[in-house]
Amino acid sequence: MRTGQHALLRRCAQGIAGLLYPRAANCLCCGDPRQASAADCLCDSCRWAIEQKRLPPSACDRCLSPVRPGKPCAFCASPLMASIDRAFAPYRYTEEVRQLIHAYKFDACNEALPLLCDAMADALPVRDFDCISPVPLHIKRLRQRGVNQALLLSQGLSARTGIPVAELLQRTRYGKPQSLTDAARRKTNVENAFSASKEAKGKRILLVDDVRTSGSTAYACARALRDAGAQSVSLCVCAVVYRKK
Ligand SMILES: [Zn+2]
Ligand SMILES: [Zn+2]
Repeated sequence: MRTGQHALLRRCAQGIAGLLYPRAANCLCCGDPRQASAADCLCDSCRWAIEQKRLPPSACDRCLSPVRPGKPCAFCASPLMASIDRAFAPYRYTEEVRQLIHAYKFDACNEALPLLCDAMADALPVRDFDCISPVPLHIKRLRQRGVNQALLLSQGLSARTGIPVAELLQRTRYGKPQSLTDAARRKTNVENAFSASKEAKGKRILLVDDVRTSGSTAYACARALRDAGAQSVSLCVCAVVYRKK
């Protein structure tokens, strides 16, 4: 059976289990009991906390990194943005946002996914892309997880924007998950780890992932898409990691 069919079966089973045994309606972030409703999957204090984690207006227009007033943006000047036109994201990556992303990663049936997709669509002021392309998982990891979470985000964003999804990237090298890799090794871990389909040629592509940490995964994907002839590559993620200076 193909990996996608496995994932579909698993999600159907989760859906049926959810109908038969409705879960306690707890806040997706802190686990506090709450009134169940699709529109209100967070308790008031977590919803407030997440809204506080919106990217500040002072973030760099192009890459969303923190910038000091009057100074050029160091991240834009780094090679990590060399193949990327612009980045879009609703949130900074903080504990509440991490919990929300964790909630949808480990249970794609809960309300965290639509909430994150809504926030990503709101953070996307332009729609002039030919397609949305998720950051891929290696086939081995896809078999372990059953589903590529970046694909779920891409599909959610596609439903909200009308931009079609095209899986143009493949992960050709099996490395440690980026989350287990320290910052110095992230870049070498993903260098040349992706290849892009010829269909990328001439396209304006919106690359989608859950979090931009160091930026090296997005960079490696954008490089592969550009090498395949993409006209432009922009990035849309749920959250951007702000490093302490
Ligand atoms: Zn809460
Ligand atoms: Zn910048």
